[in-house]
Amino acid sequence: MRYPKLREIKGALKSLFSKPYTTKFPKEPHQPFYNFRGRPYYYQDKCIGCTACVEVCPARALSFKDIVENGVAKRILKINWDTCIECGQCQLNCPTKEGIKLSNEFDISTTESRENLCQIIEKELVLCEFCKCIVACKDHIIWTIKKLGPLYHSNTSLIGFAQNILGIGNFIHKKTKENLRSDRFLFLCPRCRRQSVFIS
Ligand code: SF4
Ligand code: SF4
Repeated sequence: MRYPKLREIKGALKSLFSKPYTTKFPKEPHQPFYNFRGRPYYYQDKCIGCTACVEVCPARALSFKDIVENGVAKRILKINWDTCIECGQCQLNCPTKEGIKLSNEFDISTTESRENLCQIIEKELVLCEFCKCIVACKDHIIWTIKKLGPLYHSNTSLIGFAQNILGIGNFIHKKTKENLRSDRFLFLCPRCRRQSVFIS
């Protein structure tokens, strides 16, 4: 017969008089550890709609869809909580660091149907003023302008965009079917910008 070591006896005696490590959940509410990774949520005001989180999600729990209807364009971003593995990659790679954040929600077992286990947000998209293709989300362009600071003045599209946002006027131009040099002052996608600068 092997006798317990002194260290084990000491541990057993100590545990008789100390609080248990486990909590009494679900009888009593449980407070998770401060950096516990729980269910993620999008934050509409902080998200710029760049889709970096969608790119890095290993479980493909995040997705987006662009819709253009009657000249109005929007990007729809969706989290499917049923496939999320709560790895935190989306939060880690979000350029604003606040667009998507993991909560400390852990008690998420449910009998609800999968269709309801999601969060959807919408972001306004900006189209190229010449060819009408999608360029980026409005909030993403504003974020870029702020990030660049005075350097944004080197891009005519951004200057025009910032003036529109500030309501201090827009460049006056005459639209033609051709992409002309004067169209450089429109808000253009990269392809149309190249055309207006190098080809026309
Ligand atoms: S926590 Fe991980 S799995 Fe869940 S949405 Fe974010 S990146 Fe995807
Ligand atoms: S801002 Fe953050 S949360 Fe929003 S789409 Fe980009 S990476 Fe995702």
